[in-house]
Amino acid sequence: RAKQDGKGSHRFFEPAMDAEAQARRAMEVDLHDALRNGELELHFQPLFGLSQNRVTAFEALLRWNHPVRGMVSPLQFIPLAEETGLIIPIGEWVIHEACRVAASWPDHIRIAVNVSPVQFRSSTLNSIVLQGLARSGLDPQRLELEITESLFIDNVEATLASLHSLRTLGVRVALDDFGTGYSSLSYLRSFPFDKLKIDRSFIVDLLAHEGATAIIRAITTLADALGMETTAEGVENSDQLDILRAQGCGQIQGYFFSKPIPAGDVAQLLQKLDQDRRAA
Ligand code: C2E
Ligand code: MG
Ligand code: MG
Ligand code: MG
Repeated sequence: RAKQDGKGSHRFFEPAMDAEAQARRAMEVDLHDALRNGELELHFQPLFGLSQNRVTAFEALLRWNHPVRGMVSPLQFIPLAEETGLIIPIGEWVIHEACRVAASWPDHIRIAVNVSPVQFRSSTLNSIVLQGLARSGLDPQRLELEITESLFIDNVEATLASLHSLRTLGVRVALDDFGTGYSSLSYLRSFPFDKLKIDRSFIVDLLAHEGATAIIRAITTLADALGMETTAEGVENSDQLDILRAQGCGQIQGYFFSKPIPAGDVAQLLQKLDQDRRAA
């Protein structure tokens, strides 16, 4: 009883913190150890090339398997990692791990890696990418970095300079979540992205709004004219797939083909999707 009171009274002297801030702090402490404790894991989701009629790439998606909380969504912990700067060591691990895993895949399959704006603006990204390629022996052309439009809100010049220096390493650059938020077409003219990834919100709308199909057509026409590929993200059914194919979209990513899977399941998935296309 007395012991319990003692513990309770201890809390009394802590600075006032609301429950949310406290929870964030706890998660931050845990995230700090997550990398060292081996709680971070990459899952891989296939991108299916419609003209090739096979899987052409996988996107690496970060997973945090927390010992108590279970799987924590990247939508929750990536922002925290960005605020605390932990995204730099975590992002480094992601790049190295993604290159390492992809190096064991067939040569025609690329690996796409998400790069946070914080990571992108840091001075170490180039050397981390270079090191990831060197250690794994992965052909630079098989590595695709996914960045978002938010990088163009301010300091367009610096963003373009960084993109060009990444390009000199031989890696590809894709614009993720294209069409959301801060769209301006001027940066498409300024930098030759290898690919536009059409945001899932446009795909969700495909069956509900006629206008959504026109938007897809406009994006694929624009991308074609600029020599860029297109990937539609979040494709969940064959109706969406049919529309996207008809509108000239190059690649399909989404639960329709597969959810993100652990590295150990990739070979089996490739075999299965290969069989499906031979049967089709
Ligand atoms: P993103 O890069 O746009 O990745 C696509 C997200 O859509 C993934 O969510 C994926 O699991 C989900 N998705 C794929 N197909 C479907 C579908 O058919 N339906 C639905 N409803 N969702 C689908 P996830 O894995 O939760 O990742 C969320 C976001 O977290 C990513 O969005 C990316 O911005 C960020 N992220 C993930 N891994 C990393 C990483 O290694 N580094 C950084 N900086 N960000 C990451
Ligand atoms: Mg992405
Ligand atoms: Mg995306
Ligand atoms: Mg997205």
